[in-house]
Amino acid sequence: MTQFENSLSVPVPTSSTVAPISVGNSLVPNQNQIAYFMSGATRSYEARRNSLLKLKAALQKHEHTLLEALHKDLRKHPNEGYVSELGIIYDEISHVLKGLKGWMKPRRVATPMSLQPASSHIVSEALGRVLVIAPWNYPLQLAINPAVGALAAGNVVMLKPSELTPHTSKAIATLVRETFDPGLFQVVEGGVDVSTRLLEEQWDHIFFTGSTGVGQIVALAAAKHLTPCTLELGGKSPCIVTRSANMSLAARRIVFGKLLNAGQTCVAPDYLLVEKGAEDELLKAMIKEVEMRYGQNPLENTQLPCIVNDRNFQRLSAFIQPKLVAHGGRTNAMERLIEPTFMINVPLDHPVMMEEIFGPILPIVTFDKLDDAIRIINSREHPLALYIFSENADEQERVTRSCRFGGGAINDTLMHLANANLPFGGVGKSGYGRYHGKNSFDCFVHQKAILKTATWFDMPIRYAPWTPMKDKLVRLFLR
Ligand code: NAD
Repeated sequence: MTQFENSLSVPVPTSSTVAPISVGNSLVPNQNQIAYFMSGATRSYEARRNSLLKLKAALQKHEHTLLEALHKDLRKHPNEGYVSELGIIYDEISHVLKGLKGWMKPRRVATPMSLQPASSHIVSEALGRVLVIAPWNYPLQLAINPAVGALAAGNVVMLKPSELTPHTSKAIATLVRETFDPGLFQVVEGGVDVSTRLLEEQWDHIFFTGSTGVGQIVALAAAKHLTPCTLELGGKSPCIVTRSANMSLAARRIVFGKLLNAGQTCVAPDYLLVEKGAEDELLKAMIKEVEMRYGQNPLENTQLPCIVNDRNFQRLSAFIQPKLVAHGGRTNAMERLIEPTFMINVPLDHPVMMEEIFGPILPIVTFDKLDDAIRIINSREHPLALYIFSENADEQERVTRSCRFGGGAINDTLMHLANANLPFGGVGKSGYGRYHGKNSFDCFVHQKAILKTATWFDMPIRYAPWTPMKDKLVRLFLR
């Protein structure tokens, strides 16, 4: 128990103590969460650790249902569901549990001479009520992982999963309801109406993952209450391949990054910028990769995930212009399946190069000089991710230094996300704020600054009346 916990005396409420606010068909016991937080029940290390352990145990208990739900919603193979969703959450919880005690400790910082004798420290304090709004593409991971950070930081959490993946949304709601006091962690299911209603409330932090357009709506709603928010958004993430690259490895890792979840990944390589002279070899190697992973007829392969809904299927199908297709291009509207598709000689103003693709379609654009590729990237909004495949350190350095992007990898795709020590977040239109590991903890706390000065000595120079001697001394300290 910290000294602050001791000072909080409001009792922890039960779910029946405060009347819930109605949101569509769901209930939001808003006051309940405020009272829970104010009771101090989330403050101690033991309480937070216990919440995370309970969450992990509940996920393990519901593992089969969750993987089945991901398959029903997105046709994700259970192995893919584990590797890209559940496994990542387990890893995040383990990582946070390892660091949490240390992160919670007040951090002593240096105090300048001019303030001596004194000491200074920073206390990482929970923000309060956190609203998490999640998207559909990794409907489990992107709903639970922010909640892990928020709970670790001592907050209470309201989570709204995506309505477009209803089986996963329901499985999450059931799991959380069975495991947590709704004052601490609660799920509200629903679509835009529920989201809109939730955004009218005053929160202490809003964590939103989704499209840039809706991110703007969220930021506007947050501004009304001056609520800080984290916006994890999307965009077109480029992937550069130079002639120096290890072509077969580049092909394998690009195909992996593009086809995981059928390209419905916020950090998937959206389009390729390939140095002239390398395009044929790369294309051949990528086709070989697709055939090796998904066979000659991917539409018949039960491990190929489907497109989330008809609207997105139609949107993606419209990108496929037969005369630009070098490989793939076939679709199955009934099953919402799109073959891995490579498009070549794509003009920069073609629709597939103008909006985020978010599907298994990869346009390939060639460039003469690396500076041309850099110019193309920098003439667009800052992407969430950037990848460069090159064996040349100078090329790697030039690209990573000259372009602004959220994060990325050299000679790989997506895998920067798998390192919990790296912050994950966008820049510009791909979002603001960051999370994962310690960054998640930092995302959901206020860093309270405290200066403690001695009382046995009081440096006179800051007090009037001003004298030449004081002026001299002040100038000695402040220069
Ligand atoms: P979306 O913005 O349509 O929806 C996200 C969430 O916002 C959903 O829960 C939805 O119910 C809610 N929502 C939708 N419209 C709303 C409105 N008008 N007002 C309030 N809430 C609303 O995004 P999506 O289609 O679920 O996800 C795809 C997008 O998310 C892509 O752009 C992708 O790049 C991005 N994304 C980003 C990340 C990241 O970590 N940066 C991760 C996954 C997806």
